[in-house]
Amino acid sequence: MNIIYRYCLALRWEGEPEGLCCLKGQIQLAQLNSPPEILELLLTEEDPDTNKPFVDQIRAYNQIFAFTSIGGARLDTNLANARKGVYTYKIQGQHYHQHGCLMPEIIEGIEPKPQFAQIYFYDGSDIDTQVVRRYNLMEKTLNYTMLQQLQYEISENNPFAHIFISANDIEKEEETTIAFIAIHNTHGKDMRNYNKPICDEIALIHGDYTPHQQRDIIIKRFDNKLTRISELHGAYDPLQYPLLFLFGEYGWHKGSS
Ligand SMILES: [Zn+2]
Repeated sequence: MNIIYRYCLALRWEGEPEGLCCLKGQIQLAQLNSPPEILELLLTEEDPDTNKPFVDQIRAYNQIFAFTSIGGARLDTNLANARKGVYTYKIQGQHYHQHGCLMPEIIEGIEPKPQFAQIYFYDGSDIDTQVVRRYNLMEKTLNYTMLQQLQYEISENNPFAHIFISANDIEKEEETTIAFIAIHNTHGKDMRNYNKPICDEIALIHGDYTPHQQRDIIIKRFDNKLTRISELHGAYDPLQYPLLFLFGEYGWHKGSS
């Protein structure tokens, strides 16, 4: 992958047809926002104690903070876990993103075990407990201090984390029960500006809810199913890649121009 495409500077394989990425320059995506200072340091600082271990495990650091998981395709774990040589990610089948529910399974007499995105909601503004949970979930293979720094950064700046966390606080303060979180697909169409979701794009819902947009993402409180997210939803990328889209910038979606 060594050819730089003249319109959007995407990397292409030799022989790959033109226009796949941006319709020969017709679609112009915005530059991403600069990362917050701590993330920029982890990515660029020439410090073998921080930069290298972070970059080597960057997929794991991203995944532990992600709001969705990757489904469908069968991952070749032999290749993906190879410790030597070029990192290889080989999948078979269709690739998509999916989300689960807000709460872990509740079994009487057993301490609930929230996973991934559930941790934001379950522990709410108890950020340090969130860090410990994520550290243990990854079997202590990630650096605790880095996890802590990233957790604080995400809790502060990421609108999806913010709504999950504040849902927990609202439940406690108002003695109410949040039934759903809805993430609408109504973002502005001009993708030359990446924008944070505006406030009513992510909503906490108490009672029954009928989606008014076909592609709204509805995260239920209890639901044992994993729900597939449309790749046409603007939040498809920021929900899966919180370290790339730390400010929750909506990406390409149907209707972008
Ligand atoms: Zn292009």
